[in-house]
Amino acid sequence: MLIGVPKEIKTHENRVALLPSGVTELLRHGHQVMVQKDAGLGSGFPDDLYKKAGATIIDSADDIWEKAEMIMKVKEPIEQEYHLMRDGQIIFTYFHFAASQELTEAVKLSGAIAIAYETVEKLDGSLPLLIPMSEVAGRMATQEGAKYLERPMGGRGVLLGGIPGVRPGNVMVLGGGIVGVNAARMAAGLGANVTIYDISLPKLRYLDEVLPANITTMFSSTANIRNDIANADLVIGAVLIPGAKAPKLVTRDMLSLMKPGAVLVDVAIDQGGCFETSKATTHEHPTYVVDNVVHYCVANMPGAVPYTSTIGLTNVTLPYAVQIANKGWVKAIRENRELEFGLNIANGKIVYRDVAEAFDLEW
Ligand code: NAD
Repeated sequence: MLIGVPKEIKTHENRVALLPSGVTELLRHGHQVMVQKDAGLGSGFPDDLYKKAGATIIDSADDIWEKAEMIMKVKEPIEQEYHLMRDGQIIFTYFHFAASQELTEAVKLSGAIAIAYETVEKLDGSLPLLIPMSEVAGRMATQEGAKYLERPMGGRGVLLGGIPGVRPGNVMVLGGGIVGVNAARMAAGLGANVTIYDISLPKLRYLDEVLPANITTMFSSTANIRNDIANADLVIGAVLIPGAKAPKLVTRDMLSLMKPGAVLVDVAIDQGGCFETSKATTHEHPTYVVDNVVHYCVANMPGAVPYTSTIGLTNVTLPYAVQIANKGWVKAIRENRELEFGLNIANGKIVYRDVAEAFDLEW
């Protein structure tokens, strides 16, 4: 199969869908790979590495879209790319269709085969192509929180780990899933006093067994959060209710209980945020202050660390890409239920229920 990797053109997207080592792997299976000039540069992988691996470097995105049987991307096609999608062409990328009817209609109209990273699903219900990005966001949440606690960054001037003779900072992590556990481990590693809140007691029991001693678990109730927030230096929001908006666990009035210069990092901002005062921010302007509390609510946190994010993402996408390339999409999804969950739109028809229901469309 002829596989094409265009350069990402969405603002500040520096990730790339395939590493040079991924090119080698696809070639080993008898495929050919075209990579757009400078596609890997933002992640630290220049063209000569792709060339050495056996890819053809192509100047224009149009040529790649025109020839490739399968396009591998990171972000959904944006408006400038809509006219490039072709009938029968496989597009393997994050789509997040439910967030855009315009994109859904454009892909339907093109006749392309949309296999969405975010809905590829293991039999245990986990989403393997989302996990690495949650790991990145969770680990970054603590790093960003520590940074914005510094006085010159607007924070209250607390070093999370403390020093001998000075107490460490207090970190509250709301949600004990992938993001929360990664955030908590980073904070604990710095020496902070960490508490994880979750509504699932089996999960809290498990976390209590496996996490280090400076992480305490707490049942997530409004009363517990309200009680503890006065002592927090950093609060990380990492909750998820699948298919729903994030619950507002920290309300506006709770901010007045907090220490001036404390920091809130709302990783759940892509689901509307779990603090009442959250609004999405960007890497250019990541923070704002409400009632003396610093808010960090960047919706695409992994975009700031494209080297790590690209490797993390391609580690999990490549095996599926190889299956699709080897078998063609019809056989690949027939033989792998996980990939079948990824198929959202094919030959002009929506085939994934949540996408159709999001816009009251037929499927
Ligand atoms: P996950 O499903 O692994 O974990 C979510 C956890 O929240 C679960 O343990 C669940 O029991 C818990 N929870 C649900 N309601 C709760 C409540 N009321 N109080 C406390 N805990 C509650 O999800 P995840 O992969 O960790 O993702 C968490 C959030 O981070 C999601 O909204 C995801 O979209 C978001 N995310 C954002 C970025 C970003 O760049 N901003 C990147 C990756 C993920």
